[in-house]
Amino acid sequence: MKKIALNIFHHHFHLKVSDRQLKIYPARLALFTVTIMAILFCFTVIVRGCIIAGQPQYEIIEGTITSGKPFYISLQEGGISHESILELTESLKGILDFGNLRLNETFKIYRRKDGVIHKFIYIKGPFDQYYSVRDKGGELSTFKPAIYLKKKVYAKEFTLKSSLFETMLAGGEKPALIMEYVNIFSWDIDFFTFPRAGDKIKIIFEKYEQDGEFVKYGKILAAQYITSSKTFSGIYYEPEKGKYGYYDLDGKPVEKQFLKSPLKFTGRITSYFSYSRFHPVVKRNMAHYGVDFASYYGAPIVAAASGKVTFTGWKGAYGYAVMIRHANGYKTLYGHCSKMLTYAGAYVNQGQTIALVGSTGWSTGPHVHYGMYINDVPLNPLTITNKPKGKPLQGQKLAYYNVIKNKYLKELEALK
Ligand SMILES: [Zn+2]
Repeated sequence: MKKIALNIFHHHFHLKVSDRQLKIYPARLALFTVTIMAILFCFTVIVRGCIIAGQPQYEIIEGTITSGKPFYISLQEGGISHESILELTESLKGILDFGNLRLNETFKIYRRKDGVIHKFIYIKGPFDQYYSVRDKGGELSTFKPAIYLKKKVYAKEFTLKSSLFETMLAGGEKPALIMEYVNIFSWDIDFFTFPRAGDKIKIIFEKYEQDGEFVKYGKILAAQYITSSKTFSGIYYEPEKGKYGYYDLDGKPVEKQFLKSPLKFTGRITSYFSYSRFHPVVKRNMAHYGVDFASYYGAPIVAAASGKVTFTGWKGAYGYAVMIRHANGYKTLYGHCSKMLTYAGAYVNQGQTIALVGSTGWSTGPHVHYGMYINDVPLNPLTITNKPKGKPLQGQKLAYYNVIKNKYLKELEALK
């Protein structure tokens, strides 16, 4: 008797099957296996031929976990025999948990002409891969290789044509880098209202690659946003081990007390701070103590600065609103929300989502009314002096910083 432990999906199944039975009733066992595996997973299977230099010819079967169809069935549809599937799952037992397969994970099977599996690679992530390879003795031996990634540093310049997002995507970079870049300047630039065609983006960043293929981004080392009249700079620096941040050319932290916009992703200013403006709902002139950012229903509204929530609820003309008290007598107000995601008394961090855009109260369309007050006197959030959050670099630290800064500035300068 041969004991086969099928550690596939959420339970362990121990099936006692004799070698003879396995040969005689593969269909019956398969049916049973199918039933117990009729759970979540499905693979899109691509079969392609491949000749590896100096080696026999293999057929490569590639799959991605999508949804709906069991692993077993998909492998069978890829032409893998029942015995081979059992051999594979058995060989990976204790190494790869088939009960823990996730969407978008991929695998590759190298199959010999005679149908025998030569190699199986299961890829959970760039650093998390599982190999099962047939050794000289004809057995599948399994291992989890250490993956080495190559870190490369790139310097790039983009000239703004449409949105920042579209410009950088068109320049061959991915959203993760764009978001990181936006974060560096989120205290100085509202990227949804500020950019103009012709503005320049300069950036030095790390990329991790494996066999020349993109795996992930590392740090942004230096970034600039250049308009016809002003240049914003953020240089990565670690003044103390583990304590890093971005600094401007004077060695002041780019982090400031308030974010430039209370919206995380999209928005355009539809109404500015004014002591008297024509109100579209009440149809008369009245003060507008804040700035309106139009967006879509449900867009995340973020706390412009950390602080304590002092109010959530219905606030007359502002509809559903959130108010936050910050350091040094500042308060901010976020109005017309469709949903509030915090409560009075909560402490929120800068950039934390606190509500969703709506059109409650006196409002003609989805937008957030963003108000700012100092000691209860309204301020224009677009024109306040936004103080740096940390201390400027000084002495020895500033001297080291200047060396690094000058090196990056030279590289940024060379981008043309
Ligand atoms: Zn408003």
